[in-house]
This record gives sequence, structure tokens and C-alpha cells, in this order.
Amino acid sequence: MTERTEIIARARQEKRTYLNEIESKELLRGAGIPTTGIVLAKSREEAVAQAQRIGFPVVLKVVSPDVIHKSDSGGVKLNLTDADSVSRAYDEIIKAVSERQPGAPVEGVSVQNMARPGVEVIIGMSKDPQFGPVLMFGLGGILVEILKDVSFRIVPLAPRDARQMIHEIKGYPLLEGYRGSEPADVAFLEQLLLKVSSFVEKTPEIKELDLNPIFAYRDGAVAVDARVILEEDGAAAGNT
Ligand code: ADP
Ligand code: MG
Repeated sequence: MTERTEIIARARQEKRTYLNEIESKELLRGAGIPTTGIVLAKSREEAVAQAQRIGFPVVLKVVSPDVIHKSDSGGVKLNLTDADSVSRAYDEIIKAVSERQPGAPVEGVSVQNMARPGVEVIIGMSKDPQFGPVLMFGLGGILVEILKDVSFRIVPLAPRDARQMIHEIKGYPLLEGYRGSEPADVAFLEQLLLKVSSFVEKTPEIKELDLNPIFAYRDGAVAVDARVILEEDGAAAGNT
């Protein structure tokens, strides 16, 4: 079995439709989409050991099938620069999540490298009852949440669709570098959209996909958060 079918089969077996960030990023990497390196730590000691192995600074995030919005639950600690802060962050995450989502089963925390800041963009996929999988592209943060500055195309995308999706958002000038800020590698983002499109086409078991945010750089880009929701087992997989 490939890693992809293994991850999906395991979730199915456990009657889960929500893949955690580690599983989601594994799937994406298999599709050639860059993500931050990430591992699971099941104890404070393991978190410290993993951080030392990965190299500081690191990020810790809660891993729980019940916690979908990790920062809302106090489950994200950024820019941890030494073993002590990793130790503390581990305890703080466990405490915050148990207070804000009592009873949520926690598998542990993920340890991942802290990505340097870039232009935040998002790529999402949801399924339209009529058109099937549809990709969304937008700029991250408030531009998406408040201004809904996003573009959509039906899967599969042609190279021209990917180019248009990026160019037609109102915030496009931000990707060209605004007042001295780092420009984004637009050609790379186009390739990323095409990779997501073909990944989605090949994986009909996926109901929803959310790469939010992706940090885009002058050269390349990396997904720092990823969330995959599977179709209910037995649901019409193709859905097109
Ligand atoms: P949530 O489940 O709340 O969406 P995220 O994983 O997106 O949690 O983390 C919240 C924010 O923390 C992100 O929007 C991003 O700005 C920052 N962040 C998350 N992971 C990293 C990382 N590996 N490196 C740098 N910043 C990160
Ligand atoms: Mg996120």
C-alpha cells in the first residue's frame, strides 16, 4: 500500500473523517507539495528531544481528533527557541486544551520547524454538489476572513486557470512585493495549484482540503498548516 492509501485506510478503520495535521502533511508531501517537517511527540520529554533533533526554533501544536481550530483552543505555540520553552509550551498546550475543550482526547503535540515569515496565502478545496471539487485561492489572514478576496476554479485546473486564479484576486499586488516587502514566487504558486488539483483528482476520498496558511517566498513556498476532511466511508467517492 502507498502511504496515501494507508493513511486514509487507518482513518477509516478508526471511523475518523478528520485527518490530523501530521497525516494531512504526509499526504501533501506525497503529492509534491512542500510542508514544514513535522513529528508527533506524546510526552514533554519526547517534545524536547524532537525539538533538539529538528533544531530550534520550533512550533508546538496540539494533535487531537476533536480540535480542528488549534489556536482557538490555545493549542499553538510559536517560535520556541530552547528546551525550556518547549517543555513549558507542552504543558501550557495540554492545560489550555483541557480547559477550553474538556474531554477532548489529546494524542500529543506536533513538533515542527518554525518557518520564516512570508506572504500568507491559502489554497482550499471543497466539493460543489453540481461541479464536484472546486479549488480556492486567496491571500491569508484578514484578506480572506473579512474581505473574502478569493478566486475559484473547477478541478481539474489547466495551467491557464492557475495563472488566472492568482492574478484575479484584488490583493495580487501584494504578491508582487508591496513597499519593499518580499515578493512571492507566483510561478511556484501556479505549480502548487496544479499539484493540488491533480492530487484532489486522484484522491476522491477527500471531501475538503485546507492549506491555511502557506508562506510564499521569493523562491518557493511552504504549507505551515494543513487540514484534510475525508468523505464519510461509503459516500459516493467520485462526486463529479
Ligand atoms: P489553526 O488550527 O488555528 O489554523 P495553524 O497551524 O494555522 O493553526 O497555526 C496558527 C498560525 O500560527 C498560522 O496561521 C501561522 O501564522 C502560524 N504558524 C503555524 N505553524 C507555523 C510554522 N510551522 N512556522 C511559522 N508559523 C507558523
Ligand atoms: Mg491554520
